[in-house]
Order: sequence, then C-alpha cells, then structure tokens
Amino acid sequence: MISHSIWQEIYNTLLITYGNQHWWPADSPDEVIIGTILTQNTNWKNVEKAIAALSKEDACSLEAITKIDTDMLARLIKPAGYFNIKAKRLKAVATALLNYHPDRNHPEDARRFLLEINGVGPETADSILLYAYQIPTFVVDAYTKRVLSRLGMLSAGSEYEEIRQKFMKHLPGDAQLYNEYHALIVRHAKECCLSQPNCEKCVFNHQCNYRESQ
Ligand code: SF4
Repeated sequence: MISHSIWQEIYNTLLITYGNQHWWPADSPDEVIIGTILTQNTNWKNVEKAIAALSKEDACSLEAITKIDTDMLARLIKPAGYFNIKAKRLKAVATALLNYHPDRNHPEDARRFLLEINGVGPETADSILLYAYQIPTFVVDAYTKRVLSRLGMLSAGSEYEEIRQKFMKHLPGDAQLYNEYHALIVRHAKECCLSQPNCEKCVFNHQCNYRESQ
C-alpha cells in the first residue's frame, strides 16, 4: 500500500531539485483565464505570441474579449492555432466569467459551473480554478500521467478524475501546494522524464518502477 507521505515526498524532491516555478506566468487573473484557452493543443511559446498580440490591442482582459469582434479576435490569436474555435471559446468563457465570483466554500459547484461553458474541459476548468481563483483543485495533464505512472503512483490507464481525486486525497487542500506541484511535474516531464526519459540524471532513479523495468 502506498504511504500518504510519498505524494508529499515526491513534491519535496521536485521542489528541492527545480525550485519554485512561479506559475501561472501571467500579469492578471484575466490573462490566466485567457491563457488556459489559448494553450489548448499548442505550446506555450505560441500562447505568448497570441497574448502579446492581444495586449498590444488592449484586448487581454475578459471585458475586452466580450466586446471585440470575433473575427478580429481570431486574427489576433492566430499564433495559438485553432484560432476560430478558440475565439468562440474565449468569447464564451469571458461572457460567463466577467462578473463571476466562485464560492470558495463550494469549489465543486464552481467546477461544475465552469465545465458547462463551451470549450472548458476538466484540465481547463481546474487550471482556471487553481491559477486564476486560487481554489485548491489539482490540475492533471499528460505530463502528470506520464511521470506519476512511471513512478508507480498511478496505473497507466487512470482517468482524469481518478487522478485528481488521488492527489487531493493524499495532500492537504492547499492551493499554493497544488499550484507548485503541477508546475514542478511539468518541469520534470520536460526536462528529465521525457517520452524517452533521461533516467541517468533523474533524482527518482533509485525508486522508479519504469527505470527498474528497463
Ligand atoms: S527515473 Fe526515468 S522514468 Fe523514472 S521519473 Fe525519472 S526520468 Fe522518469
């Protein structure tokens, strides 16, 4: 049986190894929300170009997104790809969240509200709750699945909600901890635990199921 503290130990090791990641890289909660839509199916460099284009036109806020012409919005966010779809999603998100204040006492209600918005799936909803509103919900992505399943903490076929619940069951409900933990997993997956992992230089190579099986 896995000890609860292993989840915390992995976090501690990642933090010692990589340091604080200062997520989410944005100047405002509105920019976080916009970034969560733009980053769907693309890399962060492309998101930065789209954010820069929006900022140049004073359009990097939920209020501005509700007012801007949809075609114009699509042109500005073109570097992020899928720009027509993302322009519609940004409009839907901005309209829904412009005057929205989530109830911190009922985070699952807030999550359900977000999941009803067009184009908002679990990863986007949890990213908005955690990084824009500082509500403690764990963000799961492909990097999370890869790293934690290799470490033997998840089975390979684990689904999003099962993984989210697992993190939240084994860790205190602390938004700053979840913020940093997710960011550190992404850093580790990009730097060391790649598709072809660099196990030789990995801090977990003495305790990793995947490494031992190679
Ligand atoms: S030892 Fe290898 S597979 Fe395991 S976490 Fe580290 S890089 Fe990933």
